Amino acid sequence: MRKFAPIDELDHVPLPPPLPLIRFCSAPGCRRRTRPGGRHCPTCHAAAVRRWRDEHRREIAAQRRDAATLRDDEARARDSARAKLGMALRRGTLARGCCRVCGDAEVIGLIAEPARWREVVWVCREHRQAELDRRRDDAEQRAAEAKQAAWYAERARVLAAIDLLPPDEQAQLHALAGQGPRGMRLSPGAPLYVMNLVRLFRARL
Ligand SMILES: [Zn+2]
Ligand SMILES: [Zn+2]
Repeated sequence: MRKFAPIDELDHVPLPPPLPLIRFCSAPGCRRRTRPGGRHCPTCHAAAVRRWRDEHRREIAAQRRDAATLRDDEARARDSARAKLGMALRRGTLARGCCRVCGDAEVIGLIAEPARWREVVWVCREHRQAELDRRRDDAEQRAAEAKQAAWYAERARVLAAIDLLPPDEQAQLHALAGQGPRGMRLSPGAPLYVMNLVRLFRARL
């Protein structure tokens, strides 16, 4: 019978290193690593995109034509909405309002959405620009909010992908991300730190 030495509590046994979660390209015969969050390596992915575009040349061309038609359709919809508004005013089914800013009776109708032309906004000549500016500001505000939401989604995606990297790569990324301007050290909670992480991760292949 084999004899074992008693366990020495002071004997330091190093734990095995954690298995890095490396995924390899799923293209047959390719052993390169996948793109973050993808199934293929960058090379096979680019080739697949090229192949797909080649196979779908006709559909892509048709889609472009449809987009041009859509633009024409939008112009037509605007003209038609304007005509419907004119007709409704002549028939008396819709009354001209007063300027929403100053109450002046000399007004122009602004239609935001051709399909909802009845929701026309009345403004005098003087306040027309103010109304257009307000709409532009609203649109800019919405665009800024959408951009911010997209950034948060991208940030979450990248941080999750970083968690799947081998520990040494993670350590490298975090060390680089901590470098602030003028040799300043950034703390891991700093917005610039997270931004650096995302930038570094995207730049890496
Ligand atoms: Zn590949
Ligand atoms: Zn006015």
